[in-house]
Amino acid sequence: MGILSGLDSLGLGNLSSADLYEEAPVKPVVEKKEEPEQKKRELRYASEQDFVFGKTYTCPVCDQEFKNPTMRSNKARMIGTDMDLRPRYYQVDPIKYDVVCCPICGFAALTRYSDQLTYPQARLIRENISKNFQGLEVKEVLSYDDAIVRYQLALANAMVKRARASEKAYICLKMAWLVRGKMDSFDFDPSSQNGGIYSAEEDEKELLKNALDGFLNARQNERPPICGMDNGTVDYLVAALAYECGEIETSAKMVGLVLQSNSVNKRTKDMARDLKEKVVELLRKSYYSQSI
Ligand SMILES: [Zn+2]
Repeated sequence: MGILSGLDSLGLGNLSSADLYEEAPVKPVVEKKEEPEQKKRELRYASEQDFVFGKTYTCPVCDQEFKNPTMRSNKARMIGTDMDLRPRYYQVDPIKYDVVCCPICGFAALTRYSDQLTYPQARLIRENISKNFQGLEVKEVLSYDDAIVRYQLALANAMVKRARASEKAYICLKMAWLVRGKMDSFDFDPSSQNGGIYSAEEDEKELLKNALDGFLNARQNERPPICGMDNGTVDYLVAALAYECGEIETSAKMVGLVLQSNSVNKRTKDMARDLKEKVVELLRKSYYSQSI
């Protein structure tokens, strides 16, 4: 399974390669001919560095202090939202920085869940993650691949601590957004063992499907707010994920629920109307293709 590929060896340092930045879009002014790759890397870091800082946490599993790369609030400028609610920002991608991860013991969680660990869950992480964990390289700025490894670790933590379906679904959703951000920014290392853009597309699909299954489960078994979202937002999100996964009947049903509800806010309703048009178009196409 691609989305967990980084977990084979929990000594994760070898996954974060400096070569990841060789496709930086900014062409540096090269004064000296030697080491142009190094220069590119410095330029790219310089811009993102302004948006992040090392926030100090005390680990709920090993009790050690560590600094986690964190996005400064209100620094990034939002420029749009994808159909499945992924926020897009100018220049930077805050999704990369939404995992709190202890580089010493391997504890990792989405920021909103990082202070909600129970004692038995901490024990499960100690026994099933920390025991084998070989340490994570501490970085001030994260590449997409650095961030993906942190999300993989958060997903592994969620599995071993027996987190609720919504938490696992939310990790998968954000990880799908991360993989999409990686594709948008062409942040690929051609020599990488992790596969190129085709593997990323497959990973995104698998993550969206996992998110869909998790949110459908949470909708049945958990009380709102789910991951901070009210009922209407969760229903809309499920409709969008089902559309992206090609589960068009589920999508049509959920869009209908959102549009009929009186408690859904205007923005979500507007997004649901746009989605409904796409769903209707797809249903029409599939009807014609069946009748030919
Ligand atoms: Zn720790």
